[in-house]
Amino acid sequence: MSYFRSNVNAIAGYMPGEQPPPGTHIIKLNSNENPYPPSPKAIAALQAIAGEGLRRYPNPFGHEFRQAVSQVLDIPLDWVIVGNGSDDVLNVVIRACAEPGRKVVYPMPTYVLYCTLAAIQSAETVEIPYGENYELPLEKLIEAQGAVTLIASPNSPSGHGVAIADLQQLAAHLSGILVIDEAYVDFAETNALALVKEFNNVILIRTLSKGYSLAGLRLGFGIANPSLLSGLFKVKDSYNIDAIACAVGAAAILDQPYKNACADRIKTSRTRLTIDLKQLNFRVWDSQTNFLLVQPPQRNAEFLYQRLKSQNILVRYFNQPKLEDKLRITIGTNDQNLTLVEALTELAR
Ligand SMILES: *Cc1c(COP(=O)(O)O)cnc(C)c1O
Repeated sequence: MSYFRSNVNAIAGYMPGEQPPPGTHIIKLNSNENPYPPSPKAIAALQAIAGEGLRRYPNPFGHEFRQAVSQVLDIPLDWVIVGNGSDDVLNVVIRACAEPGRKVVYPMPTYVLYCTLAAIQSAETVEIPYGENYELPLEKLIEAQGAVTLIASPNSPSGHGVAIADLQQLAAHLSGILVIDEAYVDFAETNALALVKEFNNVILIRTLSKGYSLAGLRLGFGIANPSLLSGLFKVKDSYNIDAIACAVGAAAILDQPYKNACADRIKTSRTRLTIDLKQLNFRVWDSQTNFLLVQPPQRNAEFLYQRLKSQNILVRYFNQPKLEDKLRITIGTNDQNLTLVEALTELAR
């Protein structure tokens, strides 16, 4: 006899990237955090929060932040749903739409949380493998006709962006919802915002964790037409965005020049690190994100992961089919990237 539902017992539990305690001297390239600090305007907004703002319940829809999103993306305010991180928005979508008999479909490999959220709902998952070079299995995704189809674009851990035309095809041929998870959009060349306006069944999900250096704040949002959002609002926690996240997030997203400047630095470092790793004969996949998926020449990914870890450099190793010979490396500062390349050069001797 267990206290838990059988599907809960069956869930392995999400394994987040290791989080060493603050102050540990470590080069942390395993969770795709931004190496630069949040916008000074966000920090000022944080410091301006007074006790009175915390005494009262916050606005249930994150009004101030919604308004900022509406302004920055030039969309109506009622097309925005705010969450406690984009994970919260993903959770709300799955809870609202998936159950036994209402399938959750996604290409593999992708963000592992999708599987967990579906399992909690006891919803069947259909996992369709990406092609050898991460070509989208478009026909099979359409055939599967999920109640929810999830596409991370750019995708993790591959780093590739899915062609907008493919997303458009999917949206047009699915009777269920198409979730486009744009967690890494700030480092990408394109985005799918136009599809939200074109299709009633598309929701775009974004986060302040990566591009805005605010993973600790927990703030994400979804963009979709108000009728799609109406079902989601019924499911979300009443006060899922706290007053601090709302105020700090609004200041951060309004400071587009700062975010863009950080993203530009990261993209420049991404190019540099790609060249350096290729010089060490690593295979490096093209990335539209703030990380690189790489395959070491000896394919000894787990060994390198362990050796780097012993030198206080953390990268991500996935012990799963098709990824066990690869590493996912977050783009750090130029100094951090250089230390990594030096360590790998030494290990290759
Ligand atoms: C990081 C990440 C998220 C989670 O973002 P939070 O807003 O921090 O919850 C969602 N989707 C993908 C693909 C991610 O890599």
